[in-house]
Amino acid sequence: MRSVKVRHKSNTAQYVMFIEPNTRGLVRGSLEVICGSMFSGKTEELIRRLKRVRIANQRLLVVKPAIDTRFAKEKIVSHDTNSFISTPIQDPQQIVALAKDSEVVGVDEAQFFDDSIATVCEQLAANGVRVIVAGLDMDFAGTPFGPMPLLMAKADHVTKLHAICVRCGAMANYSYRIAAGEDQVLLGATDSYEPRCRQCYHQP
Ligand code: ZN
Repeated sequence: MRSVKVRHKSNTAQYVMFIEPNTRGLVRGSLEVICGSMFSGKTEELIRRLKRVRIANQRLLVVKPAIDTRFAKEKIVSHDTNSFISTPIQDPQQIVALAKDSEVVGVDEAQFFDDSIATVCEQLAANGVRVIVAGLDMDFAGTPFGPMPLLMAKADHVTKLHAICVRCGAMANYSYRIAAGEDQVLLGATDSYEPRCRQCYHQP
């Protein structure tokens, strides 16, 4: 048998795919956070997990903030147009009523909610619901985005994804804004932002 040598460069992060803990037959609530910069594949990863939930025949609710109207109103849509039906909501408290019969709750673009999303997710998890949250961890200024730090702190599992820096090809964790303006919320991903590594982000 041939042995395969695997070399790891010290400056590359290894992404280990998230596999659900086997809690079949048990009521186990949990909070999973998928975070990263724009173009890091957060929504794709959320959709991957949600598809597996569907295969497992679990009752699922998917929500997103009503503010995210980039594409179809009732879908979460990733940049490769892979989509999943979701309910747009204004206030995290709405999730409690909507999730009444759900075993799994998915939340996309969580950075746009206020801090109460963390309390709601924690309550759901305490009641046995598996909560999977995806969101931008930093805004274009490199500041932690909305409730994401809270959610990450309270999570059982955090997956931080990375994009590729368009300038040098290194691992990118910043969303550099090309368009003008200082608003934290600027939707319309592809033409307004580009993923950059730490070095290229600070040396425009
Ligand atoms: Zn770079």
